[in-house]
Amino acid sequence: MPRKIAVYPGSFDPITYGHLDIINRALKIFDKVIVAVACNSSKNSLFPINERIDLIREALTGNERVKVDTFNGLLVDYVLSQHATVIIRGLRAVSDFEYEFQLAQINRGITLEVETLFMMTSVPYSYLSSSVVKEISSLNGPVDTLVPPVVKKALEEKFARNGFKP
Ligand code: ADP
Repeated sequence: MPRKIAVYPGSFDPITYGHLDIINRALKIFDKVIVAVACNSSKNSLFPINERIDLIREALTGNERVKVDTFNGLLVDYVLSQHATVIIRGLRAVSDFEYEFQLAQINRGITLEVETLFMMTSVPYSYLSSSVVKEISSLNGPVDTLVPPVVKKALEEKFARNGFKP
């Protein structure tokens, strides 16, 4: 039987428990989930791409059904190159909808071979985003319930090094 492969793309700057929740739930539906860190994002990132990948790998602690990768260029081209047929995206609030709707329609306009599947956030993570985590950590606030310990440590090091920490 062909294996069902999904790609979960994003910035993951850094990975949070909200992302991990989506990955773990997607693993119940798919044989393999590829977490694909976007290289060509126009966003200013706190963590360089290699650090984001390392943090994802450490947070997932060697789950054999998850691959962590990066991609350049068109997402649908990357998805097809991985023999995947599904893009997974998470939805938190209504505010996510407009952007996700546009993205899904654009990708569908490029190819009908790839479907976008939306997974609703779990309630404890509905207000959780990488930006919120960065903000709290930069203010020396608690992030223990928001990110795995390895990410918490990386944030502390980053803000201490940048001199942001009070
Ligand atoms: P992007 O820049 O592509 O939005 P993110 O890393 O911010 O990258 O998010 C990647 C995906 O994970 C997006 O579909 C986003 O909606 C989803 N996501 C992020 N945080 C959560 C969360 N707390 N619960 C559910 N989905 C989430």
